[in-house]
Amino acid sequence: MAPQPPARSSGRTVAVVGSGPAGLAAAQQLARAGHTVAVYERADRIGGLLRYGIPEFKMEKAHLDRRLEQMEREGVKFRPGVEVGVDITVEALRKRYDAVVLAVGATQWRELPVPGRDLAGIHQAMEYLPGANRVLAGDLDSSPIDAAGRHVVIIGGGDTGADCLGTAHRQGAASVTQLEIMPTPPDARPSAQPWPTYPMVYRTSSAHEEGGERVFAVSTEEFVGSDGRVRALRLVDVDMADGGFAPVPGSQREIPADLVFLALGFTGPERGPLVDQFGIAVTERGCLAREDDYSTEREGVFVAGDAGRGQSLIVWAIAEGRAAAASVDRFLTGETNLPSPIPASARPLTV
Ligand SMILES: Cc1cc2nc3c(=O)[nH]c(=O)nc-3n(C[C@H](O)[C@H](O)[C@H](O)COP(=O)(O)OP(=O)(O)OC[C@H]3O[C@@H](n4cnc5c(N)ncnc54)[C@H](O)[C@@H]3O)c2cc1C
Repeated sequence: MAPQPPARSSGRTVAVVGSGPAGLAAAQQLARAGHTVAVYERADRIGGLLRYGIPEFKMEKAHLDRRLEQMEREGVKFRPGVEVGVDITVEALRKRYDAVVLAVGATQWRELPVPGRDLAGIHQAMEYLPGANRVLAGDLDSSPIDAAGRHVVIIGGGDTGADCLGTAHRQGAASVTQLEIMPTPPDARPSAQPWPTYPMVYRTSSAHEEGGERVFAVSTEEFVGSDGRVRALRLVDVDMADGGFAPVPGSQREIPADLVFLALGFTGPERGPLVDQFGIAVTERGCLAREDDYSTEREGVFVAGDAGRGQSLIVWAIAEGRAAAASVDRFLTGETNLPSPIPASARPLTV
């Protein structure tokens, strides 16, 4: 992890907005190419979802800190606690920098608008997970949402749900149940999904190996409460039919729940002053529109990572950040030696 500072400065400046893996990857490449780079982050610490989304038990923050130290020694400036569009206007940012990389993630969470949603004890996964990470960072003595002794139900069978499950177990939950609306996937790769496509198979994460119950093919009809607080979920089994989910008659039941986490995925970047002030178009999928070279309709403004792709994976964010850096370098200097791993439209193979 030896720092690789540039041999000479280009005299050009770049602002990277968002300090997740996409923003950090772009910043490191651009600094090594000799540009002066500042990373703006609204949170109090740098790292994006690596810092406050992904739990310590899955990715130790020491790896992130080691990389940030290396980047600082390569000349990257970090500006945590600054929300672009609020604490600094987009106009001011554009005046100060020759190019901007928007790597603001896709953190707008999906809701579950069923009766009882407003009861106490029901939280979004990303309201829950950052508190647990802050305890381990030494900011808090205990998590603001604590699963100790509680019957926890997680709605959503994906990775974010598994992170809630592992966190709740570590906090001493009485029980943890993870619900998924899709049917149980097969153990082996279906013949209709041959290599090298990404197969839909039953996956068990390390958090699942630690315990908890997984229930598939169920939908939540209602949160049931008493004294304003959730005490149960009313569930129904569902069958997949005509591209939707049909309730199975007579399968309604209640399961106890005094703490519920919603892990239903994300719909794209958050709407707000940043998107409004940049005036960048939003795609049908709710992402920031960009060309294959990560450029946008605003000259000198580029989009990398989940903000352009939708909620994805760290490796995609890093690849995008590196590729966007090559485009920014070419925009600033007319040429580039930086590698450009993937076009913005690259997708994993599926059938
Ligand atoms: C709970 C959870 C667990 C996950 N686990 C994994 C995993 O195990 N493996 C994996 O590969 N992927 C995982 N992912 C997905 C992965 O974290 C993301 O795909 C990746 O972090 C996207 O990187 P990014 O840089 O595009 O955005 P992000 O990491 O989302 O970073 C965007 C940053 O931009 C900041 N920002 C937004 N607006 C502004 C503004 N106006 N001004 C300043 N800053 C702003 C945000 O605060 C945020 O820090 C997980 C996601 C979640 C939610």
